[in-house]
Amino acid sequence: RIAYVNGRYLPHRDATVHVEDRGYQFADGVYEVCEVWAGHLVDEARHLDRLDRSLSELRIPTPMTRKALSAVLHEVVRRNGVKDGLVYLQVTRGVARRDHAFPAPGTMPGLVVTARRSDRGGQEALAARGVSVITVPENRWPRVDIKSTSLLPNVLAKQQAKEAGAREAWFVDQDGFVTEGASTNAWIVTADRRIVTRPAESGILRGITRTVVLEEAAALGYTVEERPFTVDEAHGAAEAFITAATTVVMPVVRIDDRPVANGAPGTVATALRLKFHAFSALS
Ligand code: PLP
Repeated sequence: RIAYVNGRYLPHRDATVHVEDRGYQFADGVYEVCEVWAGHLVDEARHLDRLDRSLSELRIPTPMTRKALSAVLHEVVRRNGVKDGLVYLQVTRGVARRDHAFPAPGTMPGLVVTARRSDRGGQEALAARGVSVITVPENRWPRVDIKSTSLLPNVLAKQQAKEAGAREAWFVDQDGFVTEGASTNAWIVTADRRIVTRPAESGILRGITRTVVLEEAAALGYTVEERPFTVDEAHGAAEAFITAATTVVMPVVRIDDRPVANGAPGTVATALRLKFHAFSALS
C-alpha cells in the first residue's frame, strides 16, 4: 500500500508524520472520507466543498489548489489499485513547537491521503441483515458541523456500541432527540412511509450521503421531513437506517435491544441503498 504524506508517495508502513504535528498534539485538523466506486471518487466535488468549509471554519490554510488535491486523491487511489473502497484525506494545521495558539503565518498545513479497498460482498451481506445501534447521551462540542479529527466522544461511543454488540451509537440530546451516529447520520421511516432525518442546521455533520439520499428519496416520490426525532419515535418507527460514505445506506434493525418493526431491513432503506449504488456508479 502507498500513502501520500506532505508531498511524497510512500510505502504505507513508512508513512509517518512529525511528533510536533498539531494533528497529533491537538487534533487540530479536519478530514474527509470519500467512497471509491469502480476506481472513481463518488461525489468528489461535494466532499472537497465540505473540506473547504471545515478548513475555513477553523482558519486552517488550504494545503493546495482543488485541482492539485484532486490529482493527489486520484493518484493514491490509482497507486493502491483501489476499485471499490474508500479514500481518506486529512489536513492539519502543520508542524510547530507546541503552543495552543496558531503557529506563525506561513506554517505549511499537513496533508495525508490514504486509500483502501472495501469488502463489497461483506457490506452487502451486512445490509441484508441490518445492524444494531445503541443510544448514548450527546456529549460533543456544538461545532459538529465541522468534520474535525477531534473525535474522542465518537471513539468512546463507538467502542461502547461495539462492546454492546452493536455497529453504531446514536447520540441523544438533552431533549431526547437523536442527533446522529458516531460516524453516520440517523434516519427513521414512519408508519405512513415518511422519511425523517434531523435538519443539518444544528447538532449534526451535513453528511454528503445524507444530501444525496434526500435528493433520491424525493426523486423516488417519498415524503421527506427534515425534523428532529426522539428515541421513543425511533423505537416505534417502521424502519430505521444510517448513512455515511463508509456504509452508504445501512438498515438499522435494533435500537437499544428493541427490534425496529419486525427486526428485518425495511423496504425503503433497501430501495435507497440500491438507488445510492446507481448514483455511485454514475457519479
Ligand atoms: N456524521 C458523522 C459524525 C460522521 O463522522 C459522518 C461520516 O464520517 C457522517 C455523519 C456521514 O457523512 P458522509 O455521508 O459525508 O460520510
